[in-house]
Amino acid sequence: MKLARFEYHGRADIGVVHDGGVIGLREIGFGYPDMIALIEAGDEVLDSIRERAAGEPAHHALDDVRLLAPLHPRKYLAIGMNYAKHVAEMGHAERPKFQYWFNKQTTCINGPFDPIDPGVTEMLDYEVELGVVIGRAAKGVRAAEALDHVFGYLVANDVSARDWQRHSPTFTMGKSFDSHGPIGPWIVTADEIPDPQKLDLRCLVNGEVRQQSNTAGMSFTVAEQVKYLSTAFTLEPGDLLATGTPEGVGAAMDPPAFLKAGDVVRCEIERIGAIENRVA
Ligand code: MG
Repeated sequence: MKLARFEYHGRADIGVVHDGGVIGLREIGFGYPDMIALIEAGDEVLDSIRERAAGEPAHHALDDVRLLAPLHPRKYLAIGMNYAKHVAEMGHAERPKFQYWFNKQTTCINGPFDPIDPGVTEMLDYEVELGVVIGRAAKGVRAAEALDHVFGYLVANDVSARDWQRHSPTFTMGKSFDSHGPIGPWIVTADEIPDPQKLDLRCLVNGEVRQQSNTAGMSFTVAEQVKYLSTAFTLEPGDLLATGTPEGVGAAMDPPAFLKAGDVVRCEIERIGAIENRVA
């Protein structure tokens, strides 16, 4: 099931997406204030929604609604250096020994088709990544059971201000500019993606393919990531993980090709969909 947040005539709701349209949950008796509340409602509610929506014609065509960020997570964590060729293009001899995590402040969350505001950076860059949405709280989980804690998947662009990123080893400043966290276009529930390590992903700038890879190239799998993080702290329902970007970022091109005003960045992942954001 694809779960979106959308706005129609100024009113926001969660919706089930199918057949090129969207079914508003409130209109079929499932009113939830936000995606985290729906995630916390659990599998039975999700099954009821799936059943109810199956027999319902779409309320609105997708073209008639504005898709919003499907989620405003409590925590947004992102792993760096998780594809070998990206590690190499960034000038590192080998992959990090430990998983290399940093925070994106949740205020960076942006809609799937909304503009990216460069702010003060002069080195604006893109990173297509598989986004993982946590379902059931996870603490101290084994890798073998880690995917049971995943609610679903989305497309994320880990937009990066490379100059500000290098101000400190934490990356926090350069990864957290407002609007630098476009996600969407919806959450695809985990039952539709039994193996998150078999997904093609790519990023295009103004129609030119810059990144093209497969999630099979991750050094640390999604399951290993959930296990590792949950060793130290609790992952809560609705927390968002960006699972690393493959090679082809603008900073690694020769000469570097940073994003500029008017550029259109499109990030696509197989079985999920695409988000597309213009640089303001
Ligand atoms: Mg990244």
